[in-house]
Amino acid sequence: MNDQHGGPTISGDIVVIGGGSAGIGLLASLLKRDPHLNITLIEPSEYHCYQPAWTLVGGGAYDVKKTRRPLANVLPNGVTWVQAAVTELLPDEQTLVLDSGQRVTWHNLIVCPGLRLAWEKVEGLQEALGQHGVTSNYSYEHAAYTWQLVQQLKSGRAIFTQPAMPIKCAGAPQKAMYLSCDHWLKQGHLKNIDVEFDLAGAALFGVATFVPPLMKYVEKYNARLAFNSNLIRVDGPARKAWFEVKDAAGNVSVEEKAFDLLHVVPPQVSPDFIRQSPLADAAGWCEVNPHSLQHLRYPHIFGLGDVCGTTNAKTAAAVRKQIVVVAENLLALRKQAPLPLKYDGYGSCPLTVEKGKVVLAEFGYGGKLLPTFALDPTQARRSMWFLKATLLPWFYWNGMLKGREWLTRLSKVD
Ligand SMILES: Cc1cc2nc3c(=O)[nH]c(=O)nc-3n(C[C@H](O)[C@H](O)[C@H](O)COP(=O)(O)OP(=O)(O)OC[C@H]3O[C@@H](n4cnc5c(N)ncnc54)[C@H](O)[C@@H]3O)c2cc1C
Repeated sequence: MNDQHGGPTISGDIVVIGGGSAGIGLLASLLKRDPHLNITLIEPSEYHCYQPAWTLVGGGAYDVKKTRRPLANVLPNGVTWVQAAVTELLPDEQTLVLDSGQRVTWHNLIVCPGLRLAWEKVEGLQEALGQHGVTSNYSYEHAAYTWQLVQQLKSGRAIFTQPAMPIKCAGAPQKAMYLSCDHWLKQGHLKNIDVEFDLAGAALFGVATFVPPLMKYVEKYNARLAFNSNLIRVDGPARKAWFEVKDAAGNVSVEEKAFDLLHVVPPQVSPDFIRQSPLADAAGWCEVNPHSLQHLRYPHIFGLGDVCGTTNAKTAAAVRKQIVVVAENLLALRKQAPLPLKYDGYGSCPLTVEKGKVVLAEFGYGGKLLPTFALDPTQARRSMWFLKATLLPWFYWNGMLKGREWLTRLSKVD
């Protein structure tokens, strides 16, 4: 059958949308279980990125080039890769539409296109980014610019921003601040730099256990916290930023702030083709069962990674466990067997509070602490820096993306 625009319809058996952490990890895990599976990957990008290391790049502790590899080099053998983006989902017809106009049909669909960084929601940001002291660790292109700016700044005002939740790696906005402050402190410049952290929300971190150890660092670096203060506009050449500030009575006003360095974390939304599809929940995210990761209304569809409306921390650490749950549950579903595994909401956020030390926050649904190591998780440790900066990247490329399911202990369905 030929489509109006894009050529013959592709008929897939298992179709995976997105070749990021979740997509590539899942492909590897599925094929390890059954190398004969017929899988099609839809992914527009030529590259695959290890995003967790961008925080280190912005802190001068990692080479950005090591965070990216050609997608072809991480794609498991035997997968059909269609280099295109999905623009429309028609789950009742078990069909999706690509940006080429071509259609793809499936028996089982796995949805993992991540989230969309909505840079355009902050007026003037796209024009300013990468110059005039405006930077972001949330982009491969700009993380190294953060470190350049940090090294150049000797005095003035540095502002770090955090948008409304949910975002991927909710700790990353403050990690950028801590690593910058650590450098300025060691260079003797911190006393001449006015550091401010503007958060759209009302809490420093979502899990209360970790707030006191983080506050110690906020105080050590003499950083000012501005809660309920949401970045809405940037003028790069004028080096000014505007924030919508909500007071205790709920009144909203706009405040103008001058800066010498502005580290921006952009607003984050569900991809448009998910938000506009019947797969979406009320907020636009993919609506899966939080434990089985099976879609609530379309049982032949599973979702994992940042696109899901589940309340876990949107992290690669969460994906590491979700991959195993989806691989096992999908194969069981195809055999018409009960779904065997359940996800506990595990996610992790290695908070780089100084260069060489990390507070490793690991927790599941409801903020339940789920530490991997029998150590006080609120302590900043050198061993956890080694884990974050050396072990985890290696582990990612050689373990998670290769179907080696290390550190993925999971609960069976009762
Ligand atoms: C600065 C930063 C620091 C972080 N720090 C940590 C950390 O310390 N620890 C941690 O565990 N996690 C961290 N993360 C989060 C982690 O990187 C993400 O949670 C993880 O990558 C999510 O995997 P994913 O596959 O859902 O999304 P992604 O890895 O983002 O992949 C999504 C893929 O889908 C593709 N796609 C998008 N739209 C379409 C479409 N329309 N059609 C087809 N394909 C599409 C994209 O091109 C992409 O390849 C950090 C992230 C950032 C940005």
